[in-house]
This record gives sequence, C-alpha cells and structure tokens, in this order.
Amino acid sequence: MSHMNMLEETRCTVCQRSDAGHRTYGKRHFCDEHFAAFSQDTPSLWRAAILAILFAVAPAIGLGIATQFFFPHLQPVSPWAAFILATIPSAAWILIVYRTSRTTGINRSSSLPTLFVAGILVAAAISRPLLFELIGIEAWLGATTAANRFLGDILVHGFFHSFMLYAIVRYLVWQTPMFTRRSDGILYTLSAAWGYAPMLVILTTFNFGQLALQSGSLFVASRVLAYLVPAPIIGFFLGRNRFEDMPVYYLSAGIALAAFLCGLTLYAGTELNNIRLNLAQDGYSPWPGLVFSIVTTMGVLAAVAGLMTRHNSLTRARLHLEA
Ligand SMILES: [Zn+2]
Repeated sequence: MSHMNMLEETRCTVCQRSDAGHRTYGKRHFCDEHFAAFSQDTPSLWRAAILAILFAVAPAIGLGIATQFFFPHLQPVSPWAAFILATIPSAAWILIVYRTSRTTGINRSSSLPTLFVAGILVAAAISRPLLFELIGIEAWLGATTAANRFLGDILVHGFFHSFMLYAIVRYLVWQTPMFTRRSDGILYTLSAAWGYAPMLVILTTFNFGQLALQSGSLFVASRVLAYLVPAPIIGFFLGRNRFEDMPVYYLSAGIALAAFLCGLTLYAGTELNNIRLNLAQDGYSPWPGLVFSIVTTMGVLAAVAGLMTRHNSLTRARLHLEA
C-alpha cells in the first residue's frame, strides 16, 4: 500500500481533513466532530415538512369547499391562481426552515436556497420541455388505457422526477461538508422538491391557459404532493449511504421505491378523480385524488421519520454517543 493511499484512508468522510479520521463507522472514517454529528436527530425538520404540506392543501381545500357549496358556477380564472396556490407552501417551507435553523440543529448553509433554485431550474429547463414537449407524455397518458397509464405514470413520470431530485442533491451537496447528518438528506431533497414540484405544476397550468377554481385548485395541491412524495424517500437513502458503505444497488433501490410511489400517487390522482362519488353528477371529482395524495405524502413522511429516528438512536447507543 502506498503512502498516499494510507493518507486517503484516514480522511474524515465529511470534512476530508486528511489526518483526522481516527473514528470509524460502516467502514468509513470520521473526525471526532463529524463522528458525533451524523446520527443526531433534527426534530424541527419533521415539523417544517408537515407545516409546508398543510400550507399546500389547506388553501386548496378551502377554495374547493367554497366553490362546491357556495359559488358553484364561477368561471375559470387566470392560471396565476395556480401560481399563488403552489408558491404559498414553498415560501412557507423556506421561511420555517430558516426560522427554526437559528434555534435547532438544521444546517443553516447557503445550500438550502441553492437546492431550492436548482429544483425550479431543473423543472423549467429539463423536465417540462423533455416530458411535455418532446415526449408528449400528458397527451399519451390521456389517450391510452388505464393499465398503460399506470405503467406510464410509474416508469416515465415516477422514475424521471425521482431521478431529477436525486441528481440535484447527489451532485450539489451529497459529498460536501454541508451534509453532516443523515437527516440532511431529507432536508436537502425536500428543499429541491419544494422548488421542483410547484414549478412543474405552475408550468402545466399555464399550458392549460386557465384554472377552474374548484377542480383546478385541488389538482394543483394533489400534483404538488405527487411530485413531492419521492423526496423524503430519496433523502433517506442518500442520508444513510453518505455515512456508511452500502451495497451498490442501495441508491437504485431507493430511486425505484420513490418512483413507484410517485407514479402511484399521480395515477391515483387522475384515476380516482374519475370515480363518480356523487351519483347525481357525472364525471370529474377532484376530491378522491387529493385525499389519496395527502394520505400517501403524510404516510411516507411518517414512515421515513420513524425509521430514521430509530436508526439514529440505535447507532448512538452502539457508538455510546449522547442524543
Ligand atoms: Zn470531519
């Protein structure tokens, strides 16, 4: 073994200081500071994530109920309504994360806004032209059978959006010193997704040219959630693989799981909408799709939060670290 190799092998996984990596976990080396940091919990992260989701669904549900029961014959409005609806939760996410970062352990680096802007740019410059203009996925999904729609939602939509969110976090922050905790994976992937998901929905609505207030506002909320669903899953897998050696298929398995749930949420959002809950009225009911999207998003978040908190406390117990 050469002298250079020996030096490299004792570098800290996080800060890369060459002489510092005398602690080990999962076949990786760490300095004292980063050894103590990676398994710490970030409770404020879950609060921020749930609040942002509430900001995404509450105005849409309010508008949906108001237009269904009190103003049933409103004309469609400008797509700028979708812009407002989709921007509220994004702004809430950024503000909450920044406010709580002062008092809690959330990483207050400049990478949060960077990832947020990267999400917006990737949605506008890559996802929309490629999926909607080059492949024409929406037109194809609208014309084909339900089985094909199910496969298309998962294999095209699901994998595409999941890979975009993965790539943003993987190549911008994954191997930088900004990524010091397992939970940072979820923090960063959600930050990218809160730029990506609303932007894609806003562009889709501007493509339509107008927005029916009831079905439109519920469509905006359920689509934003469907594009957001992969984020906590990808963040979880990236967060674990950052600090320990995992099998080569580990990250691919994470992307596949995220893609499946993203596609399923998109599919259910459109198929369930065609269920006629109200027998007196034919056709489009946006409520079941939204309910499914909320249940999936909250379920994924709860599962990921539970798994990560448990994994962190097991790690801390094994390494004899304080919480
Ligand atoms: Zn270090």
